[in-house]
Amino acid sequence: MSENKKLTSRMLKGLAKKIGGCGEGGEIVGVAPISRFSEAPERMHPLNIFPDCKSVISIVMPIPRSAYRGVTEGTHWNNYTYYSYNRLNTVFRPIVTDELARFIEAHGFEAVPVYPGVAEMYPENPDPVPGRPVPDVNINVRIAAMACGLGEIGWSKVFLHPVFGPRVRIGNILTDAELEADPLIKPGTICKRCMKCVPDCPGNAIPGKDGPKITIKIDNREYSWGDVHMGRCTATHHGINYKCSPFLKRYFPGLNLDIENTNMSEELAYKITHALGGASWYRPNPEFPGKMANPYIKQIMTHCGYMANCGAKGCIRSCMEFQEKAHNIVQDEFKTPVFPGPKWKLQPPEADETGGIVEKKALTGFFQDPDIDAGQWS
Ligand code: SF4
Ligand code: SF4
Repeated sequence: MSENKKLTSRMLKGLAKKIGGCGEGGEIVGVAPISRFSEAPERMHPLNIFPDCKSVISIVMPIPRSAYRGVTEGTHWNNYTYYSYNRLNTVFRPIVTDELARFIEAHGFEAVPVYPGVAEMYPENPDPVPGRPVPDVNINVRIAAMACGLGEIGWSKVFLHPVFGPRVRIGNILTDAELEADPLIKPGTICKRCMKCVPDCPGNAIPGKDGPKITIKIDNREYSWGDVHMGRCTATHHGINYKCSPFLKRYFPGLNLDIENTNMSEELAYKITHALGGASWYRPNPEFPGKMANPYIKQIMTHCGYMANCGAKGCIRSCMEFQEKAHNIVQDEFKTPVFPGPKWKLQPPEADETGGIVEKKALTGFFQDPDIDAGQWS
């Protein structure tokens, strides 16, 4: 049996920087004592994953700023989905978490790496282990990172870091090592309540300043953020909001769902977007060649593992624009602005040339143009 060896927060931070964390003057690893989670609900409590947990470790990894550029230009979506979202969370970021977890174990402590899923489902199944919480327990990674002193949740519900602003993804490790804790960041340090994220959210998902909010306490400090409408956000992000999805316009012309005012739940938004994205129709025709209902969704899901249609226009890109212009974050010196040109949004289907009705307006050669050589085949 291995003996516990000396392990400190400084050692973990040093290793993280060495293996590619790139903190640029700010910490990318933070530590919280488990006591900071005393108000966490059952389905998000670290002790319900690892009962011996003494310290929670959060690790942030920056999203490359330029990965947003294709969406900002309205020309290329794969980069954002791949480098900023799916593969960053499933491949690049866990490399640091995995190395740190094994380093901690080499010192004789347990280190439970936690995948940043969301406790967003409400299972009806009975507890598989009687007396224990119903799975799937998952910690809230943004709250954990805040408890570890790495930054704060902004009004948009996105985690904000003092160096990279809204451009980070988060990983966590639960350990039984008692590590030196980091101080909490004072609320309001990074989110200045500029409210730029609100009008730029194509789904109208981020409430205005008098809208609903969530407030939590960590060590007697109060942190609040907007209670983002997750049905609207998910419907937009996953491609059924005409304002920001050229693919919806191309493959479902005329479909005008009132996403900005919908009351659909997050789960229903997932169900609709993924069902539509994966659907097929038996009859290819000149209007829609091929059998996939939305070939783009099929392509990006296959190659990038996910789809992130709105490119976080309000909650990340507009916040980033504000943070850089206000020099409120460390990494703020870029030659090209976040939005080099006007912010684009697509016109509603009723303003389209075809109005979504192809007959008599497009492909007219099949039905409306006189056939001047009718019957001339030989
Ligand atoms: S844009 Fe950023 S800083 Fe401004 S209110 Fe939204 S989250 Fe806060
Ligand atoms: S991901 Fe898009 S729809 Fe969702 S909150 Fe951010 S800007 Fe709004």
